[in-house]
Amino acid sequence: MAKIKKKIKTIKIDADKCNGCRGCEIICSAYHATPRYSSNNPARSRIQIITNRLENKWLPVFAGEYAPAECMGRDKYVIDGKEYAECDFCRAVCPSRDLFKEPDSGLPLKCDMCEGAETPKCVEWCLNDVLIYEEREEEVEDVARMDDIEIGLASMVDKFGLEKVKDSVARLSKKA
Ligand code: SF4
Ligand code: SF4
Repeated sequence: MAKIKKKIKTIKIDADKCNGCRGCEIICSAYHATPRYSSNNPARSRIQIITNRLENKWLPVFAGEYAPAECMGRDKYVIDGKEYAECDFCRAVCPSRDLFKEPDSGLPLKCDMCEGAETPKCVEWCLNDVLIYEEREEEVEDVARMDDIEIGLASMVDKFGLEKVKDSVARLSKKA
């Protein structure tokens, strides 16, 4: 397969500095509201802080790929005396938890690195330097990326079946 040069954007997480202020969740949900900045609801954020106040645990995690089935990950990790479940680090939008699902529709959310913005909004708003934005160039295979609409459609097909989704799209296009 042909290779192309691609700008890879990443956000490094220095979790020890996080104090759980949730500014990142607020700005992410506001940036992705329609119209932009018209509302905010941290439940719609594509970054979530995994929290255990008693253990002083604050772990920022970004929404990743949609997964139609839950995995077998049940391991525990102890890091600096704090216990983490394997799921705590996982970015998947999977059936075993409500994380990274649009609260009204249940559709999966995915971090898009704030497409259209110069730098990711959560990075700008994190005053504790927990989130560090980095860019690098890499050679990658030239495959089409699933955008948000395709991810949403794929999850609807899993839930309701292809025929029902096709019927709904046909009905909607008649109304449009
Ligand atoms: S804005 Fe920074 S310090 Fe606040 S919760 Fe998010 S990552 Fe943690
Ligand atoms: S990079 Fe943008 S889309 Fe991703 S979590 Fe941060 S604010 Fe949300």
